[in-house]
Amino acid sequence: KKRKNGHREKFNATTTKRLDHAEFIKKKEEMAAFRKQLPIYSGREAIINTLQTSDTVIVMGETGSGKTTQIPQYLIEAGLASSEIGSVAVTQPRRVAAVNLAKRVAEETMTRLGSKVGYTVRFDDTSSPQTVIKYLTDGMLLREILSDELLLRYKVIVLDEAHERTLRTDMLFGMVKKIQKIRLERQGQDGILPLKIVIMSATLDAEKFSEFFNNAKILYVSGRLYPVDTMFTVEPQADYLDAALVSIFQIHVNNPKGDILVFLPGQDAIEGLTTLVNEYSTQLRPTQQKLLACPLFAALPPSQQQKVFDPAPENTRKVVLSTNIAETSITIPGIKYVIDCGLAKLRGFNPKIGVESLLLHPISKSSAWQRTGRAGREAAGVCYRLYTEDAFRELEDDTVPEIRRCNLAAAVLSLKASGVENVLEFDYMDRPSRASLVRALEELYALGAIDDHGNLSELGKQMAEFPLDPTYSKVLIQSKEYGCSLEIIAIISLLSVDSVFFTPSDKREQATEARKKFLHPDGDHLTLLNVLKSYWEVKGDIEWCKENFINNRNIKIAMEVRDQLIRFCERIDMDPKSSCGSDTDNVLKCFLTGFFQNTALLQPDGSYKSVAGSQNVKIHPGSAMFGKRVEGILYNELVFTTKHYVRGVSAIQSAWLPLAAPKYFNNVRS
Ligand code: ADP
Ligand code: MG
Repeated sequence: KKRKNGHREKFNATTTKRLDHAEFIKKKEEMAAFRKQLPIYSGREAIINTLQTSDTVIVMGETGSGKTTQIPQYLIEAGLASSEIGSVAVTQPRRVAAVNLAKRVAEETMTRLGSKVGYTVRFDDTSSPQTVIKYLTDGMLLREILSDELLLRYKVIVLDEAHERTLRTDMLFGMVKKIQKIRLERQGQDGILPLKIVIMSATLDAEKFSEFFNNAKILYVSGRLYPVDTMFTVEPQADYLDAALVSIFQIHVNNPKGDILVFLPGQDAIEGLTTLVNEYSTQLRPTQQKLLACPLFAALPPSQQQKVFDPAPENTRKVVLSTNIAETSITIPGIKYVIDCGLAKLRGFNPKIGVESLLLHPISKSSAWQRTGRAGREAAGVCYRLYTEDAFRELEDDTVPEIRRCNLAAAVLSLKASGVENVLEFDYMDRPSRASLVRALEELYALGAIDDHGNLSELGKQMAEFPLDPTYSKVLIQSKEYGCSLEIIAIISLLSVDSVFFTPSDKREQATEARKKFLHPDGDHLTLLNVLKSYWEVKGDIEWCKENFINNRNIKIAMEVRDQLIRFCERIDMDPKSSCGSDTDNVLKCFLTGFFQNTALLQPDGSYKSVAGSQNVKIHPGSAMFGKRVEGILYNELVFTTKHYVRGVSAIQSAWLPLAAPKYFNNVRS
């Protein structure tokens, strides 16, 4: 069922305004002329020929050359896809890109969005049975595979932005390749037609992809790129927002015409800088060109996104403040100057609790070059990197594939939930070792996410809904049973940040003293909860944070994670407010349902020995449990320095263990 939404109506309002015939012809000619001047157009015949003769094609070409908007249209124009033989699906890692590209291509084809050209993203679908070109997020295509195993409604699958290498894109590579093979074998049965696969990207190890896809043909689309001068800062910048602001005004005051594109890590930074630019620009001399800030990020209302593409008003320079959407997915005309802060919020896993996204990360060298390239699309340009040349040399060459970054148990759970039954035999582009896959399966089994037959259990299905490492999602889901979701959500969120305490090196003693009032006798988990309760009582007062040596910024980040987790709980009908009040043993028992392997018991000599590995572990001096002797402990992590230290420690009773993980402890005992 199609959902009504603001931009769809808006779009209808503008395009159904009847163009009279002359206007229509004029617009159509303009669009045709625009399409013909794109760099990709000169290769149109060759591209169509190759697509006709090959089942799989890899297309590489500079961002903005026309891959994403033109190739699907070429496929339709050449009759390689149609409403009769099957349509074209084009995947995008980001929903903003999927939506914008569909709009653009509908405009180019002079059709109403949702008829010939449409998009499908989570909670918003404008496609219809007439749709022959559909832009969709990779997550949505994975979902479609669950209901249409061979993706029979499509004749061509275009996997765009293949270099992103998220877990989802990697899964699609393997799954689509398999679907292609099956469709070839069953060709003709029940009218099954072979599937064509097109892999596209601006920045790709094309040979590696070609090898994975049975030596697929590689097409290079020549782009136009003018020289771009690249500048580094001499000193590292403590505050990239401040550095970006200064650079924007320096460019504006000293450099000739041309718009500015600033790459920033996320919405907060973009909104902050937008306000600052608009404020400061009122102080420009009246004779000077004006400056107009245009933000661009995923959550921006679509009506505002359009501003980015519209030419700046008379006598005004546009400053586009964008996340990495503008790096390769979306091309903005008129950019001559790029400012690159060198950071991105990577969709990825926070190593502490495995929560997805929200992670500020230095970009890779290949991202830095992509950003630089945005300045040279229409003429020579300049790129200002807000970091030193040394810092640049330290960057990773390419973004590391997510499957190498995240906890493998989370990846395996996700694969299983997407219908991959045999994860050992799955066709990975970067195959994890067999041993590590087996370990991940064992972990999931111990957690109860998969059953004795290796199938996903009901619990496992729920766990896969959470963007968390499986141990944490298990704890979160079990909190329903223990009646302590409020506490569990709060503690997990706080564990996602480095520390909620602030310990300046010159005030170590005062900080330790201040911390004492939050200490809970049962350890670190409940101590964190105490901090948050006090923080809520004073409504996050900054002065209170300073006086109590609480890291206000980190708590704020943790609260964002909390909001995210609350939304996920509501989605699976859990009450995120259920609380066990003063009966805090329940909180620790609940943690044990996920962390039963991270436990140790007190030995007669006063040391602690781990239950899983029979290893001597020491409580870290930073823990609330340091120096205490209790029957047993549970811990978040084991760190190796000179000794095996455990951190994030709480007291438990050994009798709780078999109750928390009956399967695991029965096996250990027998
Ligand atoms: P590629 O996929 O190779 O990076 P695209 O097909 O996305 O290139 O874009 C080709 C060209 O189409 C861009 O250079 C840009 O000029 C134009 N274009 C794309 N989207 C829009 C839009 N929403 N508004 C105006 N022009 C656009
Ligand atoms: Mg593209």
